[in-house]
Amino acid sequence: MFRGITRRWIFSTMLVIFLIIALIVTGVIYAIVSLFNSEVERELRTVSTELSSVFEDYEADNSTSFTTGAREYVEDFLHKEEMEVMVINATGRIVMTSTGFSYDDNESIQDFEAAKKNDEGLAVWSGKLSSGENAESVTRLIKNSNGSVIGGVRYIVSTEDVRGRVIVYSIAVILIGLALLGLIVLTGSYFIRSIVAPVRELSETANKIAHGDFSTKLEKRYDDEIGELSDAINDMAKDLENTEQMKNDFISRVSHELRTPLTAIKGWAETMQISSRRKLDRKTFDKGMSVIIKESGRLTGIVEELLDFSRIQTGRMVLLNEKLDILAELDEVIYMLRDRAVSEGKHLLYDEPETLFPPVFGDPNRLKQVFINIIDNALKYTPEDGVVAIEIKHDDKKDPDNIVITVTDTGCGISPEDLPKVKEKFYKANQKVNGSGIGLAVADEIVQLHKGSLDIESGVGVGTTVTITLPVYKDTRDRQSSEAK
Ligand code: ADP
Repeated sequence: MFRGITRRWIFSTMLVIFLIIALIVTGVIYAIVSLFNSEVERELRTVSTELSSVFEDYEADNSTSFTTGAREYVEDFLHKEEMEVMVINATGRIVMTSTGFSYDDNESIQDFEAAKKNDEGLAVWSGKLSSGENAESVTRLIKNSNGSVIGGVRYIVSTEDVRGRVIVYSIAVILIGLALLGLIVLTGSYFIRSIVAPVRELSETANKIAHGDFSTKLEKRYDDEIGELSDAINDMAKDLENTEQMKNDFISRVSHELRTPLTAIKGWAETMQISSRRKLDRKTFDKGMSVIIKESGRLTGIVEELLDFSRIQTGRMVLLNEKLDILAELDEVIYMLRDRAVSEGKHLLYDEPETLFPPVFGDPNRLKQVFINIIDNALKYTPEDGVVAIEIKHDDKKDPDNIVITVTDTGCGISPEDLPKVKEKFYKANQKVNGSGIGLAVADEIVQLHKGSLDIESGVGVGTTVTITLPVYKDTRDRQSSEAK
């Protein structure tokens, strides 16, 4: 019938609350019963204490005067309305009663005997009389001035009335307990419903999102943890939608990028095949070959980039680290890109430092890949006649632990909204220029694997500066031995 949170709530909370209330109700009823009983007993005991002075001059064997005394006592007894009083002689027989009826001697004899054994000379009894009525009695011994027992007096009070009152109070206590329980169940189930219903709605929406329906939105009804969860699920759906969109764009972009070189290769190959029968001139042949080689190189580059990206995604990128001269690696990349910059009419500025640089511990090919990516971007996003300036610095005093490489361009720049996202996979701020949108993500990951950092500052229309910071190689043993010298 009940499941999930409701079931847990019933078993963990409601069961405990029910037990506590039942315990309290039982306790209160028990207290009421004992309070009423002790009240009756106290009353009987108080009345019986008057006895001692009344019979002090009587002798046990003087039965006539004892009977006279007994009659006088019963006649003068003040509480006849509330209770019955019986005088018992030394043998245990009833000699006088306030109602005048004869009584079953057995009960009084038993109580009288019990009183004799009691240090106080007192016996308390409660139960059903032979008439079937519920009653309570106190029997007290009568002693004369010598201290010998000359008889006893039994005071009896009907407890029917008290029982009735105890039952009424107990029912009232039980009803209060039930009402309390009902109230707790009512407020509790309202509270549980206010959790269970939205949680069910949340899980239905999460299911829809899992099945690809990113347009589902959750309405924020509560400003609490559930509201926060709704917000988080809505944000997640939005992020997933964006990622899905970026992934689709990425696939179509990459397909497009692969198609362009393939078309050129196929076109030139076909030209050469047809022309080979008609003797192709050397110049055209060389041109065709160089296009095929260049475009297959581009294809290899794209495929390599995709492979790197997948390696990073699955955490399989392995660095083949060695102690290397970072200046030499940067030089090589700049040398490689210089011709391209010239042919595109862009100014590549780089002053090779005179000083020696400390070594870096890293993978030379991966670091070259980072420099190529960054400088390639700078050239790609800078118009003709623009400037791309590269600088490498190692400040022995200010920052001896790091080597800092900056690539500054005078290109289109990146808007402040796009800037925080350009390092994300598939993100392209500039849709007009070719590119897969994963170059910066790969570069950033490689720099991080080298325990360095890649930071970008940019202004739209001003240009972009990418700063790569790499830690210098530190071998404690080397340092210690050089310090010893
Ligand atoms: P892409 O292959 O599109 O160049 P990247 O990951 O290398 O992908 O770069 C992500 C985005 O960052 C680019 O689409 C571009 O909008 C922006 N970007 C990167 N470098 C520069 C730069 N030097 N100048 C202007 N925008 C740049």
